[in-house]
Order: sequence, then C-alpha cells, then structure tokens
Amino acid sequence: MKKYSIIILIGFLFACQSKSGSDIQFEQIRNSFIQSWWKQFPTLASSAGFHEYDAELEPYNQATRESDKVFVSAWLDTLSKLDNGKMEANDLTDLALMKGALHSILFYSDTLKAWQWDPSNYNVAGAFADIINAKNLDSIQKRKSIQSRIKKVKSYYEAAKENIQNPSPEHTQLAIDQSEGVKEYLNSEVSNWLETKTDLQEAITAIDGFSSYLKTILPTAKRDFRIGKELFDIKFKHDIQSEWTAAEVYEKAINRKKELHFEMAKLTNDLWSKYMNVEMPKDTLKAISALINKISDKHAHRDSFMQSIEKQIPELQAFVNEKQLLFLDPKKPLKVRRTPGYMDGVAGASISAPGPYDKDAETFYNVSTLEKFTKESAESYLREYNHYILQILNIHEAIPGHYAQLVYSNNSPSIIKSVFGNGAMVEGWAVYTERMMIEAGYGNAEPEMLLMYNKWHLRTVCNTILDYSVHVKGWKKEDAIHLLVDEAFQQQAEAEGKWKRVQLSQVQLCSYFTGYSEIYELREEMKKKKDFDLKKFHESFLSYGSAPVKEIKKLMLK
Ligand code: ZN
Ligand code: ZN
Repeated sequence: MKKYSIIILIGFLFACQSKSGSDIQFEQIRNSFIQSWWKQFPTLASSAGFHEYDAELEPYNQATRESDKVFVSAWLDTLSKLDNGKMEANDLTDLALMKGALHSILFYSDTLKAWQWDPSNYNVAGAFADIINAKNLDSIQKRKSIQSRIKKVKSYYEAAKENIQNPSPEHTQLAIDQSEGVKEYLNSEVSNWLETKTDLQEAITAIDGFSSYLKTILPTAKRDFRIGKELFDIKFKHDIQSEWTAAEVYEKAINRKKELHFEMAKLTNDLWSKYMNVEMPKDTLKAISALINKISDKHAHRDSFMQSIEKQIPELQAFVNEKQLLFLDPKKPLKVRRTPGYMDGVAGASISAPGPYDKDAETFYNVSTLEKFTKESAESYLREYNHYILQILNIHEAIPGHYAQLVYSNNSPSIIKSVFGNGAMVEGWAVYTERMMIEAGYGNAEPEMLLMYNKWHLRTVCNTILDYSVHVKGWKKEDAIHLLVDEAFQQQAEAEGKWKRVQLSQVQLCSYFTGYSEIYELREEMKKKKDFDLKKFHESFLSYGSAPVKEIKKLMLK
C-alpha cells in the first residue's frame, strides 16, 4: 500500500513549476523519501532516533525482501525523473546519497547475500537499546513500543533460521557468542519494561532456538569467510564511495607503509641511546620494534584504565580550543562508560552517538573493561594502548575525532547527509585529526610521541593492506600476523583481535585510510588558496554532514 502513495505524491510534485520550483520540489521529495524509508526499515528508524515505528520488528523473510525491491525500484524511478540541471550542488549530493542507499539495498540482498551466510546479522539487542536509551520518548511510549516489539522477536528469529544457508564457521561462532549477550540484555534492561514475563520468555526461547540451531550446523559450516576480488571490489564501491578503486587505495597504502618505516627508522636512530644500552640491531624493523617495546613500558594501570581515559577528555578539549582548531559545543557532553555486553566482541573503544532526531540524547564513549582479561593479555593490551597511544586513541574516538564530527553531523541542515552517513568520511575524519593534532603540536613534538603516532598511523595503513590481502589475495593467518606484528609492530593480542575482525568484516577496515587520504589531499589542495584558515576549513568540511569526501570536495572547491 505504501508504494502507491509515493507515486501519487510525485505526480502532485511535478505539477508545481515556479521559479525556485525545483528546490521546493526536491525538498518535498527528500522529506517524502525519508518518511517512506523509515516506514520500510523500522529498526533503522529507531536507531536514527525516529520513533514512529518502534512497535515494529520486521522478520527478514522473502516477503520483506520483495517489498524492499518494490520500494527501491519505485524510488529509483522517481529520482531518475528529476531534472538535475536545475538542482543546487547541495541537493545533488543528497540525490547521490539517496541513490547510493537504494542501490546498496539491492547489492546487499541480491549480490552479497550476507543474510544467508552471516548469522550474526540477526541481533535484536540494539533494536531495544534504541528505544530504552531514547531521550525524546517518555516512559509510557517506551513501554508501549517495547511491549509490542518483544512479541515480534519470535518470528524475527524464525525467519533468521530459515535464511541461513552455507554459513561461514567464523560468523556462525560470533552469532552463537553474541546470543548470550543479547539474552543477558533482554533479561536485565528489557525485562524492566514488561508487565508480564510471558513475552520475554518466548523471546528468550526464540534466541536459544536460533543459537542451538547454529550450534548443530557449526561442525558442517564450510563457507570461506573471504569474499574474493569480485565481491570485494563492488562492496568497496558501495560502502566507501571513493574516487579511487580498492586496488588503487591498496597501492597507496603500500607506499605509505614504506614512508612510515623510513620516518620511524630516523626517530629510532635519534632515540636509541636514550632508552637502550645495547647496540642497535642492523635490521631496522627489529630496531624500531625493540624501541617501541621499551617505550610501551609507560602505560596505564588495568584497574584505572577507564579513569585514565576520562581524565584526558577535558585536556583534549582545552588543546583544541587553545589552538583554535575547531569549535566544540560545550552543551554536548561526552560520557565514558563500559561497553554494554551486547556490543562486545569487536572493538576496544567506540562512540555511541544519538541520531539526527534525538540530538539531546547522550553520547557515550564505550570502553571495554579489562576484567575478563588474563594478567598476560591485560598487560599486552595496556602496552598496545600505552601512555602515548591512548592519547591518540582518545583523539580518534573522542576529541576532535568521532565525537566532535558526529555533533556536527547531527547539526547538518540535510537530514539525508545525517542519516546516510558515509563510513569512510567518518573514519577518515577521525584518522585525519590524529595527524592534524600532531601537526598542531600536541604532545610537544616529543620524538616518543611522534614514533608512537607513526606506529598508530601504520596500523590504519595496514588495516587496508590486511583487508585487501585477506579477502582478495587469500592471505592466511600467518601472513596477517607477520604483517601486523613484524611490520606494524603490534602486540600479539592486538594482532589476534585484528585477525578475528578481518574474518568477520569486509571493506570496513579500508575505510580509515581511504577517507584519511581523501581528506588530507583535499586540505593540501585548499591550502594553496590565499585566505586558507585551518579552523574554517575544519568547520566548513564538517558542516556538510557525513557525506562521501568526494561529494564534500565538489562543494568546497566550488
Ligand atoms: Zn606493564
Ligand atoms: Zn574510528
């Protein structure tokens, strides 16, 4: 039914033809698009803070996939009829993002088909957390939605079970592990909102059913987790939306690795006698590694790891303000919290930010605690995130990295750019700010800080090399560990974690270096202009929302 209403509305819109008719028309199409998008994808709506469809939880079955396809082709048809010649640059960017989002739906359902082979796609915890954590809902609304959504968990997991075909063992194991966290979340947080426990019990039984089904098929799960060159190239195009191809970015990363090794060799030469009382090894990589290892002795204590992070946030704020790098809104606070159980398993630290409809909700800095770590793995983790690296991590995740960018993104006048955020722009910005802060004198240009920054940056570079090499070139675990430990100087635990992550995701690890390279090159180009101002460049860049860098570039160079 919803599909017909779009077509009727478009007929009406094309009828209006005034001087600024195309702008008004596009504004209406944009609104109509986003409204129908949320109706089509209720859990995406909840996570963006649009709560009209919180009561829904659609099973991803054949009927849903067909309905998605009708939705996509109706909208592509509508958008193709727009007169691009009359549109403003800012609207053209939105149009590109809308079309990109629609094409992605088809790519994921028809070509990549991770819904068949990746059981970890199915996880309802977030769908409840988005309601529970919402600041723009009262408790009566929350209760009503949660009570309705919990009744739909059963059919959600029934559809999930039916979808699974030839899964990869790695993704199957992840789904099994995560189901424990999901149940824990439902039993604690969600349970508080339910009057009777019958629906909760049914939901828990459904999750258990899915999980035990996965356990029975795990021994025969055979699919290679590597997606191969063909799928990797297309996924890169859809997810990253760069000017460059995956192979081009891979080449850039190989070159950058060489540059970084060269710079690190110089720093090691300068610092060696200050820290080491043995002769420097002839093998440069071994010398760098030994020195990094020595400097890593300076690290936080495992019991006060979170407090060390909390303490740094106001210091970073002060530096950004003092150096006039970017306006930071003092009314948007950042809270450090331990990573909730249902999100655990992939990254050590991450940002949970409110969506564009829920701007007043809190932004959280999730930090994984070291409680479950053995003494050895905690030590390894703390050395990896040592005194220097922890500061760069906070720049990346919090200020002026992800946290600051997301505040700007939510203030972006375009709902499309806020909603269809480009991952490479988002990660690229965070990586760019690390270098920008160092260039602005953060850490007093101490050679120790520069060496550690280079090591951290090398990690980003090697993320790209690793992702491409594993999925496209068929790298095995020992190849990956060699790159990460011997050439990128990582601790064993970090390298093992990255190997786990590259098995579970594809292309995402390329987003950091790709976005960074695009932003850095754009800034260098803008610097050539007479009245270049770094603060203005940053604020202007962020004002376009989380659009692909290539689209922002078009607007900024105009
Ligand atoms: Zn130690
Ligand atoms: Zn990041």
